[in-house]
Amino acid sequence: MIINRQKATNRLRNLVIKLGLLINPVLLKFKQENNQLLVFYFHALYESIDQKNLNHIDPQNGMTVNQFIEFIDYFLFHNYIFIKPDDLLSGLKKDQRYIMLTFDDGYYNNFLTLDILNKYKIPAVFFITAINVKENKSFWWDVVYKYRFKQGVRIEKIRDEQKFLKRFNSSYIDEYIRNNFGADSSEPWSDIDRPLTPDEVKTLIKNPYVSIGNHTYNHSVLINCNEEEISYEFRESNKYLTDLVETIPSCVAFPNGDYNKLVLKVAGETGFRYAFTVEPKKNYFPFEVRKLNCISRFKANTFEIDKYGSFYRLGYSPGSIYSFIRTMTIPNRKE
Ligand SMILES: [Zn+2]
Repeated sequence: MIINRQKATNRLRNLVIKLGLLINPVLLKFKQENNQLLVFYFHALYESIDQKNLNHIDPQNGMTVNQFIEFIDYFLFHNYIFIKPDDLLSGLKKDQRYIMLTFDDGYYNNFLTLDILNKYKIPAVFFITAINVKENKSFWWDVVYKYRFKQGVRIEKIRDEQKFLKRFNSSYIDEYIRNNFGADSSEPWSDIDRPLTPDEVKTLIKNPYVSIGNHTYNHSVLINCNEEEISYEFRESNKYLTDLVETIPSCVAFPNGDYNKLVLKVAGETGFRYAFTVEPKKNYFPFEVRKLNCISRFKANTFEIDKYGSFYRLGYSPGSIYSFIRTMTIPNRKE
């Protein structure tokens, strides 16, 4: 039954992609691409597919260096201008198309971007989770993934476990990780899964193409927190990062992309100008003058940007079209 549903899902996805590939080039002739900003979020980078196959991190979060270069090449070829968060403050020029690259969490492997950013002279922003850097602690979703993978657990089951944990606060998750995988399980296995060290964050920010953003102190899913806890997550992380890099982050990316009115209120009060979400949409400018602006982001496809790029340029991802069709055709269905 599960296998049949998976097959039907895959078929519908493939159909969406095939139709998109036929229609998108025609739509792009008529659709405005200027005065718009596309923002993508990445997590980890692998040197090669071999590194990916070691399964030290959850592979859904990673792309190879070569795939990253292809990604950049694609948007340069289509005349996109790469910007950083501070460029938003100074205002974007009319009749241009813009793109921003963002990296969530603070993986050490993000150092692999530096040569590429230098070579192409393009900026990127890195949203750092303070506690992982401070304590050299693996990200909990990778711990769940790598231990369960080693135990031979099916990927669907691993995803369910990760999804289940996102409903809880960080101290519950820490305890769960300790109880289920052992006291040492948060120790990284290699350079693939480890976070940046504090000194590496300092080195990172010295690069002129790098900006640093807040990704909370504990990577807490903020919709599970009360006002005081949200404020603590933002401020404690800001304090830690400001001590390290001597600049106060102007932007925040919400862990797991989750937010509500209260989260936005506290983010504004903390002094952030831009809050990065994971709603897969384009951003149209000029932006309204507000205390805090929300910036939508697409999850970067980890392969074949030539194939999927046209979706993004139209303001969709294959996944968002697919989800839309599903909600239209199968209402009230529970995921
Ligand atoms: Zn994150």
